[in-house]
Amino acid sequence: MKTERRSEASSIWKARIRCPRCASRVVELSTSPHCSNELCEYSSAGFPVIDGQPVLIDFQFSVFNRDMYGAASGSVLRRDVTGRSISSRLHRLTFGNNPVARRNCSLFLSIVKQTATTPTVLVIGGATIGSGADVLYADAAIELVGTDVFSSENTVLVADAHKIPFANDTFDGIWIQAVLEHVLEPATVVAEIHRVLRLSGIVYAETPFMQQVHERAYDFTRFTQSGHRWLFRHFSEISAGPVSGPGVALLWSIRYFVRSLGVGDKLSRLFPLPFFWLRFFDFIGQGRLKADAASGVFFLGRRSERTIAPGEMPKYYDDQR
Ligand SMILES: [Zn+2]
Repeated sequence: MKTERRSEASSIWKARIRCPRCASRVVELSTSPHCSNELCEYSSAGFPVIDGQPVLIDFQFSVFNRDMYGAASGSVLRRDVTGRSISSRLHRLTFGNNPVARRNCSLFLSIVKQTATTPTVLVIGGATIGSGADVLYADAAIELVGTDVFSSENTVLVADAHKIPFANDTFDGIWIQAVLEHVLEPATVVAEIHRVLRLSGIVYAETPFMQQVHERAYDFTRFTQSGHRWLFRHFSEISAGPVSGPGVALLWSIRYFVRSLGVGDKLSRLFPLPFFWLRFFDFIGQGRLKADAASGVFFLGRRSERTIAPGEMPKYYDDQR
């Protein structure tokens, strides 16, 4: 019964895949994906396929170009998808896990399950499982649609979130963790999230605030808690706050201070290690004192037709006690 329901749900999101240029249907998804609209450039040019997954990117409006998805390269950036590399292990040892995301993930799941029998959840930036997001991937009661700018075993298609290749009102939930700092236009991406969410759909976003540049050429923006709220102004807030606090931010600063002196990217990872205990201070303190110096912030909200007004923002900050 469960298998039948899941395959039924699966066909629903597949039928809602759309051309990122003109929003027409995309046909022959797994063999030679192309736009069904003969007037569209992607009708004749088609989309690349990498590891059996369609790359539904409108290359004219993306920092990623078609050549990056040739047969030899599955990834724009070299990433540790399994989390087993020395760098990933060292990172966990120094910075710990993400208990806030884990808690929020359980809350996200409990809310999204109230919206549909088998809710469909889109993960943007989902090639690597985000810290604390394991339960999202392990939950058999939801239909997970993983996307990213490169393919992995956790994705079903490759997309650029500035143009999410799905029809309006497709998803019950969207998970976007540590992604919005890597996009050129966060507001465009959030407008797309709003568009592809169903009316009562929910979003969970986690974005850095006090973090130095990572992922090299693909790192563009940071957000305060208030800035993050304004970014999601077309959503009603369920919960928001710091992800990791000033302790973790200080550890990042130690690493990047040393790195700036030219010791090299890998070696710089060793320097904050003796100070790992700083992160335990993040369990102390709350409200805006913590948010003002947080390493990252989160927002959990529901799609809304009401937009918060600019005049509401000072009060939003003052209420972070
Ligand atoms: Zn098209």
